[in-house]
Amino acid sequence: MTVTDPYHPATDAHAADVARAEAALLDPAMAHIVDVVLRAADEPDTYEAAAVDGRVRFRRRPDGPGWAFDAVRVEGRNPLADQAADRFSPLAEERANPHPDRTTTSYPFAYEQVAQLFDAPAAPDLIAIHTAAHNWADQGGHLGEHGSIGVVQARAPFIVAGAGAAQRGIVPESCRLVDVAPTVLSLLGIESRPGGGTGANGAHRDDALLARQDGDAQEVALDRGAPPARHVVGFLLDGANANVLYDLAGRGEAPNVARLMAMGTTFGHGAMSSLPTVTLANHTSILTGAHPGHHGILHNAWWDRRDGEQVITNSPAHWITAMDRLDPGVETVFSAVRRARPGSVNISLNEPCDAGADFSVFDLMRRGEMIDRPPHAEELPHATLRFVRPVKEYKWSSLVDHTAVEQFCGIWSGSYRGTAWPVPTFSWVNFSLTDAAFHEGGPYSEIAAAAVHDTDARIGEVLAAVERAGVFDQTAFFLVADHGMEESDPGCTGNWADALDDAGVAYRDEGYSFIYVNP
Ligand SMILES: [Zn+2]
Repeated sequence: MTVTDPYHPATDAHAADVARAEAALLDPAMAHIVDVVLRAADEPDTYEAAAVDGRVRFRRRPDGPGWAFDAVRVEGRNPLADQAADRFSPLAEERANPHPDRTTTSYPFAYEQVAQLFDAPAAPDLIAIHTAAHNWADQGGHLGEHGSIGVVQARAPFIVAGAGAAQRGIVPESCRLVDVAPTVLSLLGIESRPGGGTGANGAHRDDALLARQDGDAQEVALDRGAPPARHVVGFLLDGANANVLYDLAGRGEAPNVARLMAMGTTFGHGAMSSLPTVTLANHTSILTGAHPGHHGILHNAWWDRRDGEQVITNSPAHWITAMDRLDPGVETVFSAVRRARPGSVNISLNEPCDAGADFSVFDLMRRGEMIDRPPHAEELPHATLRFVRPVKEYKWSSLVDHTAVEQFCGIWSGSYRGTAWPVPTFSWVNFSLTDAAFHEGGPYSEIAAAAVHDTDARIGEVLAAVERAGVFDQTAFFLVADHGMEESDPGCTGNWADALDDAGVAYRDEGYSFIYVNP
């Protein structure tokens, strides 16, 4: 950092204000809601994580296409020492440890997660991570929450199935959401990108499948000896807790998810969401293979210090233009498939991260085309009426998800909106109902189970459309979420704004976690 960096004032006065803000967050009176505070240190490639009971300074060095990390100084307890990816899995383990505290939870890939975010020029001065217990319903949160790099909020399900997939059942493995895109391209038999690409550490990588590739194809889920898939269909179940989803599938409550699991490989310990573990940042990580700090969709909202502007990407008003912020150095799966399979058609249903797709609902909206009016929510197939009627978000998401199925079945039937369509090579279906319901009732609630049940039936409609097209055996499927979901403790409340205000520091808190001092 230099004094000419418009994003990071490098004055002593600014540094002192950041230190005061950090000290306020780390006050023992805030320890029930502040889990850990993250920052870039005042030396290159060096970061700090601090909690009420200790602090670590760690540094990265190139290692293959990625980074290796060394803790260079520890005071007290290292808050990120425990990075176990298998903690609190399966569901019984998670339920036995409700809202685990900083000494019992784990932070998978924590050093990498912190470092990638601070690669972004518009990264904040401090990132405050909520405790698992923190219920911030009165500040816009819910009973079910996410955003932390604690394992329960980071863990998304990941199932790979069908043509080109290995049929290993549930394996005791984990990966990261940035591994999804290279795995999907590998299912199609796509090998490296002409000219290679940029790896996680910013250096050239000959074997890259994408222009910017932080992740790696997951060989455990691939059958390299089988003919590659001709088509891939991906499902995103927003905010679906992996343990809950696998459990419901195992108990016969989600037969179509269970069918996919039987046809392939399920990452039993999940795929870990990138920091911050929020929606559009991680939709984009799934579809680009790059972390938020590299693809440019940093958070639901952030502050651009250079332009003095609040940037909002994840809201209904901003979805259609969100990809204007996508870093030009990244590539989406849509673009990569089109490059490797010239003439192919790739579709993006209800997905804001749609750059390079040939059909996208948000593209229709950008061009001002009318979207078909959905039926009344009460008349929808696969919509649990006892939640559709009273819960506004359940109703809205059921309508939206229904339209995704209609679009999929239309395009896959060969004709939609008066246009003839070939069978798409890559199809992406974003379902939002699970997020709405898991937030509303928490991951273990009846409304969450109903959302999985309804969404599973919609997946069944998609699978039937693939069968009708006569290409089921040549099609690979994958199912993923953008983050996990954890039940907070309604008795654990509070707002760190009180502590920051008392410290007398000027700041902006974006997305209730990204703290910009002297904005
Ligand atoms: Zn989400």
